[in-house]
Amino acid sequence: MKQTIRDLQPAGRTAFLRVDFNVPIHQGTVTDDSRVVASLPTISELSSAGARVLCASHLGRPEGRRRQELSLETVAAVLGHHLGRKVLFIPESHGPQVAKWVAAMEDGDVALLENLRFAPGEEKNDPDFARQLAAPASIYVNDAFGAAHRAHASTVAITRFLSPAVAGLLLEREVTSLSRLLGRVDRPYIVVLGGAKISGKIDLMESLMERVDAILVGGAMSHTLLRAQGIETGNSRVEEDRLDMARHILEKAAARGVDLVLPVDHLAAPAVDSGTVETTSGAAIPADLMACDVGPRTVDLFSRRIQEAATILWNGPMGIFENPRFAAGTRSIGEAIAASSGFSVVGGGDSAAAVRQFHLGDGFSHISTGGGACLEYLAGRSLPGLAALAEKDS
Ligand code: ADP
Ligand code: MG
Repeated sequence: MKQTIRDLQPAGRTAFLRVDFNVPIHQGTVTDDSRVVASLPTISELSSAGARVLCASHLGRPEGRRRQELSLETVAAVLGHHLGRKVLFIPESHGPQVAKWVAAMEDGDVALLENLRFAPGEEKNDPDFARQLAAPASIYVNDAFGAAHRAHASTVAITRFLSPAVAGLLLEREVTSLSRLLGRVDRPYIVVLGGAKISGKIDLMESLMERVDAILVGGAMSHTLLRAQGIETGNSRVEEDRLDMARHILEKAAARGVDLVLPVDHLAAPAVDSGTVETTSGAAIPADLMACDVGPRTVDLFSRRIQEAATILWNGPMGIFENPRFAAGTRSIGEAIAASSGFSVVGGGDSAAAVRQFHLGDGFSHISTGGGACLEYLAGRSLPGLAALAEKDS
């Protein structure tokens, strides 16, 4: 990441700025605007330097068709509110109409294009579509870390048509913070993993195994590991078809001397929303109950390990934190990490949402805005969006 917007002289030029405004929208209202907020430094910087800023993003999965409920128009209003200035919404992402709108912009103006994925060319990384996206602009800025793991027209193909092509401030901060975890870190280096499934995170676990001192596992993914050890899991969520994968992870951790720490108790109930919540007496989960959160002894055990750590990565909630009955484990572990003076990073959409929900953000060194992109980066994979910028640099 050699070139950023700090290397630009953008006054009077039109910047195509790829942002990640893939925000949750419920009944026409943006319910979490943290991705918009995260992009403000780059937008403000370009605008005050006198650029005409043409923001572009995808939203949801319209699969190449216009779907009005996935229009970015609402997001333009949210962005305008945060910037304290009018944001022009352009109801197309490409084509001759866009050029007309852009011609009416003045230096410092900010506009948002319509959802890039309304056009089939976006996800196909189609060079023709990329050329049309690039047409009204003369410089390219990528600030969409959350989309950097996708080779799409607005993240990869477009870099062929615009020079310079540089990183925005958010992208730069993501790479700077996350790359620290791939280099030489202060030890102990502890990873806290949780969430729904092992299957989506196997690459991450394998790669972390090479680097970390301990992996603390909670959430539903811990049930699959417990079952692989022959421990009863009752009605809890288990990936039956991943037991071999789980065994392989347990063996690999043992072989490498990585401490794989599993829950020693759980909060369990007959159903997520009904029936009495019980604390199990041990790691085993009684028949007819489902574990929905880690128990108090597990919280103590994990918290002590977290206190000793100098570097902490957290991905995946410890339980079904969306339900107040099962939020305690995720909240307590989040608090323990936030209280640490070590270098702490949280990545993953739901985990980052939990950190915000419990107002723990100030205690973290870095909150990644990327879900899949963050996990792939930390698994050591090359991200196409970053690679495309790097190729322009060299
Ligand atoms: P992230 O987005 O942070 O990577 P995941 O998407 O992997 O996290 O997992 C988040 C989901 O896992 C949450 O919706 C949460 O409710 C669910 N989850 C966590 N623990 C359990 C559990 N014990 N049983 C069922 N679902 C769980
Ligand atoms: Mg998730």
